[in-house]
Amino acid sequence: MTDKPAPHTGASLRPETVAARAAGACCAVTGAILPPIQLSTTFARNDAYEKVDGRGYSRDDNPGFEAVEAVLCTLEGGQAAAVFASGMAAIASVFQALAPGDHVVVGDNCYFGVGKWLRAWAAPWGLDIAMVDTTDLAAVARAVVPGRTRLVHIETPGNPAWAITDIAAVARIAKAAGARLMVDNTAATPVLTQPLALGADLVVHSATKYLNGHSDVLAGALVTAATDDLWERVKSLRYLQGAVLGPFEAWLLLRGLRTLFLRVRHASRSAQAIAEAFVGDPRVAAVCYPGLVGFPGHDVAAWQMTGGFGGMLSLRLAGGAEAAFETARRAQVFLRATSLGGVESLIEHRHTIEGEDGVAPPDLVRVSVGVEAVEDLIADLDQAMGSAGRAVSGTVRLAAGAG
Ligand SMILES: *Cc1c(COP(=O)(O)O)cnc(C)c1O
Repeated sequence: MTDKPAPHTGASLRPETVAARAAGACCAVTGAILPPIQLSTTFARNDAYEKVDGRGYSRDDNPGFEAVEAVLCTLEGGQAAAVFASGMAAIASVFQALAPGDHVVVGDNCYFGVGKWLRAWAAPWGLDIAMVDTTDLAAVARAVVPGRTRLVHIETPGNPAWAITDIAAVARIAKAAGARLMVDNTAATPVLTQPLALGADLVVHSATKYLNGHSDVLAGALVTAATDDLWERVKSLRYLQGAVLGPFEAWLLLRGLRTLFLRVRHASRSAQAIAEAFVGDPRVAAVCYPGLVGFPGHDVAAWQMTGGFGGMLSLRLAGGAEAAFETARRAQVFLRATSLGGVESLIEHRHTIEGEDGVAPPDLVRVSVGVEAVEDLIADLDQAMGSAGRAVSGTVRLAAGAG
């Protein structure tokens, strides 16, 4: 029995095909078109006391990782990939693979958990951390210390206002300083952006989000441009610290990846339509969406993203924090939940979720657009924002306290 990627899924096939066919994973013994799930934690040696399939113990790896990692390698155009127990486990492993005293530059527009972990654990351990606005290339150039900065970590579009960072430009700055560039590609996904082709060294994902896409798996992934010393240290950390994905989660993630292109393209189209529907609405102070002409960073996004601008957008309410909170509270189609990238649309008052040390302004609601009918989503946001100043949908009237 094998679930190794079949040889016919080579580099000649398009990424959509490799994803839809899970890099050829199937069962050669039974003919099952899906791979089996190998739950065994340990692997017996043969009578010469040799490993049978190169495997000993499942903290090192599991047969179920291979197809997922093969798909991710193809989609991101990398040399190797590694799946982790969560996105944070993947990100933390890269910082932990550095040495105390090393200098790192981190975007202040990244997922708030990264800053939280760095302050709580990496700084006391000895990493020297500079947080900068990575949309400002001059600020990035000032922040790197040639010869001492080992890693630059960015996220684009970045949480929670979807700020756009120019990956190729930051890659050049990092390279000139002798630092590696890691890009959190969770929001863009490899469907829309391939950071390695733009000069990044590492791509990281919270695979919990779009890669899996069904809000039922917590997972992380790293893809590297080179299987170098840093990569070996990261792999060693995954094994020795046990930040591994479970075999069932790996199987679910592989299933989710089959529809990645369909889901992301649909969500991007819907998000664009939603963003355009609320531009100029008197209840909205700003629509934060990289696909809008006039959004800061739109020109960079239009160049570095292909085929859409993603399914994430945020609205800053003219009525301030109270209006934002009320909008999230009154939503009826959007689920009031944190996280993103699933087939179901979510809305959150991000400031409440992040707490006082977070990065989200209090007047902002963050929206993850799913695959529902976009008309339902627009109508729901319209009613959730209340009636002040807009008469788009006379049929949607909100009773006080509804939802
Ligand atoms: C959710 C998220 C993370 C953290 O991933 P987990 O899988 O929750 O550990 C990192 N980066 C981004 C952009 C995220 O949205």
